[in-house]
Amino acid sequence: MIPLTTTSCQSPSDDEPHWQRALAEAFRQPEALLAAIGLSPAQIAGGIDAENAFPLRVPRGYVARMQYGDPSDPLLLQVLSRGAEADLQPGFGDDPVGDGPALAAPGLLHKYHGRVLLVTTGACPIHCRYCFRRHYPYAEQRAEDRGWQQAMDYIAADTSIQEIILSGGDPLSLTTTRLNEISDGLRRIPHLRRLRIHSRMPIVLPQRIDHELQTWLAELPWQTVLVTHSNHPRELDATVHRALGSLHDAGVTLLNQAVLLRHINDNSDTLAALSEALFAAGVLPYYLHLLDRVQGAAHFEVDEASALGLMDGLRQRLPGFLVPRLVREVAGKPYKLPVSARPMS
Ligand SMILES: *Cc1c(COP(=O)(O)O)cnc(C)c1O
Ligand code: SF4
Repeated sequence: MIPLTTTSCQSPSDDEPHWQRALAEAFRQPEALLAAIGLSPAQIAGGIDAENAFPLRVPRGYVARMQYGDPSDPLLLQVLSRGAEADLQPGFGDDPVGDGPALAAPGLLHKYHGRVLLVTTGACPIHCRYCFRRHYPYAEQRAEDRGWQQAMDYIAADTSIQEIILSGGDPLSLTTTRLNEISDGLRRIPHLRRLRIHSRMPIVLPQRIDHELQTWLAELPWQTVLVTHSNHPRELDATVHRALGSLHDAGVTLLNQAVLLRHINDNSDTLAALSEALFAAGVLPYYLHLLDRVQGAAHFEVDEASALGLMDGLRQRLPGFLVPRLVREVAGKPYKLPVSARPMS
């Protein structure tokens, strides 16, 4: 386990924060990752893909939670670039959720009433193989490079926008100094009520939730929500618990979104254990997403009928507040569509 030192014990003039070092030390080669957990490429069904345009990236602390010697470990399968990604499937595309047409300004997506999503960065601490943004043209669309002012002007001009969602990539890949610049820009917009952050950092690089970030969060003038992304109960170890506790102490409401993934969390026991583990860490389950049909991710798909069966299993096991909403994102719709069984007659 990596010791959780934070920048709070260091003077501001110290070197880069601990989390940036941890990020720089992440695995980038499938062979090296496999070796660290006692596996060889030959043990991976369908083989590995070391030349993928969406390269492997996995922090060491996340690898430490994998089961040594298990080629079907559910954490490993989320991040290992495998040969199956090269199988092109009909019905799978580069922009499955219709982000392109929803661009209101460079880096700003306005799909739903009252809230806009800022693509703050293309960087992520981990590369999830099923990611729907794996083909996203970040270089052209990041708010930070071009037209940042355009996004701010758009939000300022539309008083129906009450909530800003910082997304990416992972917005917590940005330094806290940079996040502070963003929030300073947003403070000038009087109609904002909530700031939401979509981040996998607390789960995959919990060191990121350091004292400096906690202070930034605690001093924001809006109600603050952080939506984490965890798919499996084994992702929530003691380091993650501490990070989530720090967020809670900073006054942040914690929710989780998960993606339903074949061979990773596609059974009711695992999903129920995930809900229980999240709640034990102070997080409420929010969404369970059906896979966005992004090219290269077809082998992760769980069909809708099976998903509905799993939801039924969850309802039989859990209190209602621990049952996530099963949704599918359909381009052009005004909200994420609930997926439900036909009503019983
Ligand atoms: C998912 C998403 C949101 C947030 O939707 P909620 O249902 O409020 O969680 C907002 N904007 C965009 C572009 C999204 O993709
Ligand atoms: S953390 Fe989120 S945005 Fe980043 S690769 Fe994973 S799913 Fe995609």
